[in-house]
Parts: sequence; structure tokens; C-alpha cells
Amino acid sequence: MTKSYKSATLAAHAAGAIDAQSGGVVPAIQPSTTFLRDRDYVPLRDDNIYARDNADNLRQAEAILCKLEAATDTLLFPSGMAAIAAIFRTLPNGATVIIQSGIYWGTTVWVRAFCARRAITLHEVDADDLAAVCGANQPDLVFVETPSNPWLKTVDIANLRGITTALLVVDGTAATPILTRALDFGADIVMHSATKAINGHSDVLAGVLSTRAGQSDTWQAICDDRKMAGAMLGPFEAWLLTRAMRTLPLRVERMSQNALALALYLFDHPRVTDVFYPGLPHHPEYAIAKQQMTGGFGSLLSVLVSGGREEALQIVGKLNLFLRATSLGGVESLVEHRHTIEPHTGIPENLIRVSVGIEDIDDLIADWEQALDG
Ligand code: PLP
Repeated sequence: MTKSYKSATLAAHAAGAIDAQSGGVVPAIQPSTTFLRDRDYVPLRDDNIYARDNADNLRQAEAILCKLEAATDTLLFPSGMAAIAAIFRTLPNGATVIIQSGIYWGTTVWVRAFCARRAITLHEVDADDLAAVCGANQPDLVFVETPSNPWLKTVDIANLRGITTALLVVDGTAATPILTRALDFGADIVMHSATKAINGHSDVLAGVLSTRAGQSDTWQAICDDRKMAGAMLGPFEAWLLTRAMRTLPLRVERMSQNALALALYLFDHPRVTDVFYPGLPHHPEYAIAKQQMTGGFGSLLSVLVSGGREEALQIVGKLNLFLRATSLGGVESLVEHRHTIEPHTGIPENLIRVSVGIEDIDDLIADWEQALDG
């Protein structure tokens, strides 16, 4: 697809991916790990040599994501964490890094251990203080997550870009490329756990990086590292992603509508003391979210219920439709008592994280009603 179609059109057509050989309107899965050369030893296709270098299914999925981000280059990885690690591995020993605090715990833990091993100075900074700390330091890398998981803090990417010349990396997992194109706001690299809404069916683990600075040394180092160290997504997972992304804009639209309606319902409930969702007008960064997110505020929200651990677990235990499981961004709604998962991170015992799916909103609200009022 050469025209600059809108996201819904690009996604529905998988950015033009078809199976030229059979005429199928859906691309075939090509699982081969190695590719033929002719009798003169010339590869039949010089972009297909060995599956750790590249593969058609991977290129098809990357092409869709690249267009959705309006990027110039996109790389898929076998998980979101593999994508994050690929960025940090480009840092020299002794570098300085600023990461937002209170983000996905897995990122924080891995970055702390990595920086300690490599004598990298690490500053963990609250979203509210990022601009000031970035202005005062000269870090090599700034890593933010917006909206953040599980606090739903929203970072003003353009403002940060204006303050720092560091490599600015945005984890946009909770926003998806449909609601925020972080590169438009000045990010150097945007990262997503494609395990979440990009795939959206809770059956693929994947991560993605996109950039408009494909010629930069950092991006080239990331490309080389993926190829040489072998962090490749398998063809079947790439094919599943390609299929899932056909409905990404639709799913994100519905999840965002449902999440906002549920957030409003929960905010008014007497057993709820607070709701963190960037689409609620009382959210501290509502103005930023409105300007940075287009078409909705995503599927993720967190709720503080009155009482403590016991009350929160009791409510979570009564939910029928919301599955008690970790992760977010799937078509089915999930609920998680974060303190049970990460008790050492200061997460309140009365916080319930909710990932809102595409079900009928009346059923979703009714489930919470019976859990809160029953
Ligand atoms: N970033 C965020 C915001 C996440 O929520 C997660 C996983 O929950 C990750 C990164 C890591 O992604 P993955 O589980 O695909 O490695």
C-alpha cells in the first residue's frame, strides 16, 4: 500500500500484505529457517538467507507497525522486555540514564540490575519531576512510560523533548500506536509490548521498537544486536500479529469507550476512593492526555477501594466476567490485585488494576455492581 491511508485502513488491509504466490488475500506462513541459492550460489532472494537475519512474516508485521507509527524503521522482538533490553544494551559502560519511577515493575527491575552490572548511573524519577531532573542532568538516555502501568501517569513527551537532547525512549504500551504516535511528539524510539493490545488476543508474546532515525548509530546497533544475538520473533507469532492488527483500531476504540464508562461508574461508587484513568477530568494530567492521545484513553485503569487488602481481594474474588490474571490490552477484561504480585514496591494493598476488554459495557458494569454491592 503506497498511499498514506489512515490507521484503520492500513490495519484492515495489513498494509497490503497478501500471498502473491497463491493469490490469497492473506499472507502465508513461511516457517523456513534457511533459503535456497542457485547453482551459481546466488540467493534466490537476497533478502532471504537465514531466518535469524530476516523473514517475510516478520517484515509483513513490521511494515504495518511502521506505517501505524509513521516511522521509517520498525523491529519486532520476541517480547516487550527483549525490545527494552535491546535499547539499553547500546549504552556504553559509565553512561547516565533517567527512567520514570512507578512504571512496569519488570522494566524497573531489569534496568536496575543491568545498570549496576555496567556501572551506569541510574536516576529513577517520578513523572512529575522528569522535566526538572532531565533539565538539570545530561543523561544519555531518558526512558518514560505513558500512560504508566499501573499508576496511569501521563508524561508530556513534547515538553520532555524540548528539555533534553538525550535519546528519548517512550514505552507506549498502554496507549498503543492508535491513540498516541510518540514519534510525532519527538520521541527517538517508541516501544510497545505487542503482547498487549497490539496483539490483543492474549496468545502472542512480542515487543516492538520504531524510529524515524533509522540511520543513527543507536538504531544501527539495535539492528545489529537483534540479528547477531538472535532476538527474533518466530514466523507464526509474526503472522498471528499481522492477523490481530487488522482489528487493532476497532479493538482500541471499543476498549477505550468501555474503560471510560467503567472508570466513570467506579469513580461515583461509594466503595471506591479513587480511580486512576487519564480520561477522567479530575486526573492530574487530563489536559496532557487529551492533547497527546487521540480517539480515547486506552484500556488500563487502576482503582483504590475503601479498606485494605482483605476488601480488595474480596471484590476481586467476586468478579465473574473480569478474569483474575496479569497482563492487559486483550479482548477479554482482566483484573489484578497488584500488591499480591509485587508486595515490595509500595503498591497500595487496596489497589485493583483493571484491563478493560471489548465486551458489552452493561455486562462489565453489572459485574462490578454485584462485586461491590453484593
Ligand atoms: N511495558 C509495559 C508497560 C508492560 O506492561 C509490559 C508487560 O506487562 C512490558 C513492557 C513487558 O512486555 P512483555 O511482557 O511483552 O515482555
